[in-house]
Amino acid sequence: MPPAEDRFLYPDERAAGLTAGELAARFDHYITTCRRLQESRGPGLKILVGFETETYTGSFEFARKLIDKYAPDYIVGSVHHVADLNFDFDKDHYQKAVQALGGIDTLYRRYFDHQYEMITCLRPRVVGHFDLVRVFDPGYSERLRRPDIAEKIDRNLASIKNLGLLLDLNTRALSKDAKEPYPSRAILEKALDMKIPVVPGDDSHGVATVGKHIGRGIRLLEEMGFDTRWDNVINR
Ligand SMILES: [Zn+2]
Repeated sequence: MPPAEDRFLYPDERAAGLTAGELAARFDHYITTCRRLQESRGPGLKILVGFETETYTGSFEFARKLIDKYAPDYIVGSVHHVADLNFDFDKDHYQKAVQALGGIDTLYRRYFDHQYEMITCLRPRVVGHFDLVRVFDPGYSERLRRPDIAEKIDRNLASIKNLGLLLDLNTRALSKDAKEPYPSRAILEKALDMKIPVVPGDDSHGVATVGKHIGRGIRLLEEMGFDTRWDNVINR
C-alpha cells in the first residue's frame, strides 16, 4: 500500500523524490492494471488482486479506506515498523530500531504485539512474513524460543487459526542470503500441528523476480506434510 503520509516513505522512495501522493497515484494505476488483466485473462489462469498493508500510526485507518475504495480480492497483513520505526530496510535501520526500543528482545516482543493488533483489526486473508523481525538477527532461532517471545508467537498463531486466516511462506528471504524462508521451521511446525494453511509467496517487488524460489518453497511445504492443494483455501 502507499504510505499513509510522507513520514512513512521508505528511504529508496524518498531518494527517488517520491511523495505519498505520487505513490497513491501509482497504487491506483496498479489496481486498475490488475483489474484489466483479470478481465482479459485466458482460460485456466486465475488472478486475484491484492495488496500488502502496513502497521504504524494511522495505517489501519488508511488501509480501510483503500479497502473501501478498491475492494481488493484479498490483502496481506504485514509489519515492517515497530513503534513507527522501520526495521527491515537495511541493517542500519534494524540497529536504530533496536537501540530506540532498548534491546533486541523488546523489538521482538513489540513486533509480535503489533502483529496481533494488525491481525485482529484488519483480519487479512494472508499474514505476511510472520517472523520478519528476525531479518538481521543471526541469533534468531534461540530468541524465537524464549518463553516471553514464544508465548506471543503462540497467541498470534492461535488468532490466525481462530479467524481462519492463511500464513504466507515468504521465499523472498532466500534472495537475501537467508537460510530459510519466513516463517522459520519451528513456527511452520507449530502451524502444521495447528492445521493453519500455508500459501507460498514470492513477495516480488517487480516483474524480474516473479516466482523466484517459489519451487523451493513448495517443495519445503510438501516435505513437511502441508496440504498444497490451495484451490481449497483460496476459493473459500
Ligand atoms: Zn513485506
